[in-house]
Amino acid sequence: MIAPILHPDTPEIAYRNGELCVEDVPLSRIAAAAGTPFYAYSAGAIERRYRHFAAAFAGRAARLCYSVKANSNLSVIATLAALGAGADVVSEGEFRRALAAGIPGNRIVFSGIGKSAAELEFAVAHDVFQINVESRGELEALSAVARRAGRTVAVAIRVNPDVDARTHHKIATGKKENKFGIDLAHAPDVFAEAASLPGIALKGLAVHIGSQLTALGPFEIAFSRVIELFRALAARGIRLERLDFGGGIGIRYRDETPPTIDEYAGVIRQMTRGLDVELAFEPGRYIVGNAGVLATRVLYLKDGVTRHFVIVDAAMNDLLRPTLYDAWHDIVPVRAPEGAFHATPQSVVGPVCETGDAFALDRPLPPFRPGELMAILSAGAYGAVMSSSYNTRPPAAEVLVRGGDFAVIRERPSYDELLARDRMAPWLAGR
Ligand SMILES: *Cc1c(COP(=O)(O)O)cnc(C)c1O
Repeated sequence: MIAPILHPDTPEIAYRNGELCVEDVPLSRIAAAAGTPFYAYSAGAIERRYRHFAAAFAGRAARLCYSVKANSNLSVIATLAALGAGADVVSEGEFRRALAAGIPGNRIVFSGIGKSAAELEFAVAHDVFQINVESRGELEALSAVARRAGRTVAVAIRVNPDVDARTHHKIATGKKENKFGIDLAHAPDVFAEAASLPGIALKGLAVHIGSQLTALGPFEIAFSRVIELFRALAARGIRLERLDFGGGIGIRYRDETPPTIDEYAGVIRQMTRGLDVELAFEPGRYIVGNAGVLATRVLYLKDGVTRHFVIVDAAMNDLLRPTLYDAWHDIVPVRAPEGAFHATPQSVVGPVCETGDAFALDRPLPPFRPGELMAILSAGAYGAVMSSSYNTRPPAAEVLVRGGDFAVIRERPSYDELLARDRMAPWLAGR
């Protein structure tokens, strides 16, 4: 049997009358209106997760900046903006999305290791709350930009605490061999330089050691090193007012047991007791990851010599995580099987011409039939944002559900739109 509620974290996505629904809307209704494949997100789940996070830090000066790269659809950002969220962005494009969704510049933190001068100019011109600087070169570039603009810009320095986040190696960012942050050993000199540069108001210390962390230990080690540096800087006369602890809290995809937000907050409250600082957090996946599904239709069944393939109309161009990170996503039929069924090993694959285009290999699943709808769960974060038109496939549409309503919040592009971005070289035109 399949349990009616699929994820303990997400009661908004559940079977009702034998059909998988997001809030009050059956996925088949959306499929009829929007075609497949499509992402469907629960606005209620997104809001609930944000509120949990905010409540866990109630009474502590803490700023929540939703990490836009997890899901940057304007409607998703606007849903969070309405609750008072700030944003953490990693490009001018994301900065523009946050502004367009109603988050003012003075609630935006700008992160990332390779901000161009033009991007820094844009951020400064839009009253960015804080720029998290990751190198000496960036610090000097920012100082020049700020001086040209006749402004002073608030800066935090992101450090690399050399901590093993115990997550997939492609999303670990806090080891010394990773490109992110400034090594702790070099940090005091960079802080001293920042404190002396014109146009720079040195405000804080930032850290982000990776994504999908499922244990508290690595956070504790990283934060304690950051707090130690904070105190050492204060002793040298560099007094900071802000600590930005980044994002990275994991979610349950399969059987992980990530810390609860209250456990995470409890540790941080304990560690920062007596420190007169404003805290900032940049959660992405925690807020949206389990709030979305990717719905797809079964095209064909094919029995290979050793594998039973279920060929679906979604592919790695829609959801890259399994291909890129070997990520696990639960897979369920949209119409619940009636009565008992025999789960057999099946491989769910997409139409893209790549062997890596697979959502599951040899996984025990209920029987599927061609034409039937399937849902790939926990697809709200790092899903649609990573989609592409590889194989000239129009990427999946996105739909936001609120109660019994739903709206297409990003249309599937037409073939004409996909082709219209190319230009025929003049010497080929008119042939
Ligand atoms: C990606 C990123 C985040 C968000 O990470 P999640 O694991 O989605 O919470 C936060 N801060 C920075 C600097 C990031 O690069």
